[in-house]
Amino acid sequence: MHTPEGFAPAHVLPAALSAGAVAFTFRADKVLVSGSGAPGEAPPRLPAWGELPALGLGGTPHYLGALDGVDCVAVGVPEDAPEPKGWRYAGLRSLFFVLPDAMLALAARSYQIVEWDKTHRYCGRCATATRDKEGERAKECPACGLIAYPRVSPAMMVLVTRGSDVLLARAHRFPPAMFSALAGFVEPGETIEDCIRREVREEVGVEVGRLEYFASQSWAFPHSLMIAFTAEYAGGDLTPDDTEIAEARWFAFDAVPKLPPSVSIARRLIDATVARLAKSAAGSC
Ligand SMILES: [Zn+2]
Repeated sequence: MHTPEGFAPAHVLPAALSAGAVAFTFRADKVLVSGSGAPGEAPPRLPAWGELPALGLGGTPHYLGALDGVDCVAVGVPEDAPEPKGWRYAGLRSLFFVLPDAMLALAARSYQIVEWDKTHRYCGRCATATRDKEGERAKECPACGLIAYPRVSPAMMVLVTRGSDVLLARAHRFPPAMFSALAGFVEPGETIEDCIRREVREEVGVEVGRLEYFASQSWAFPHSLMIAFTAEYAGGDLTPDDTEIAEARWFAFDAVPKLPPSVSIARRLIDATVARLAKSAAGSC
């Protein structure tokens, strides 16, 4: 997920928020959309800010900015907030290919802001109630001055190649038979490159050489920024770390197993790399 085309981000609420503003309304990790989700019904839509009171809902709006000139806000409602008739709270993952991409991306952004708002109500240093900081998206402690910004956790993803093979692994938490690229969170003091070398070593016992940046993806589960690379194999035998990795194998580019769904950066990384390897194999014939 990324910043949609036509979206102008901002964080200061307009003096008069229009009733027609799109309200990304979250109850826990689910967003309010119209309809029942039954197959065949009209695609769901998001409520307008002005509609919320009639639906028995409300909350503090966090301004996101405007999409093609239409204001957008994120709103968190209590976990016991009602589900209005004709509406439902839907998990973000269930809305891929259901909501327009721009709406889905803004919903993911909203979720992270609402979640941050909910989990930073008190200062982490002195436990005083925080307040919104003027002029930026931050919470400040009126007693000790500690500032808390929305959390973004960088994580790396890497597809290791060796000749025309790719290294794919199956984590214990994956659906059966699905393999993917390796991934892990960046630790304090590390660069992304350090993280890649450490994670590959820890997870499968392999050393990597040249790294090449592929792309990044914001991932709202819960607040990652996934930064994807390819890496060339440089040495070592595959020795998967049992605690995280169930199985790791080299796969020929034309014989890859079941892969993650196409919405994930993992899939785009694997597809692009496999296509590159196929092209260079065809070129060398
Ligand atoms: Zn404090």
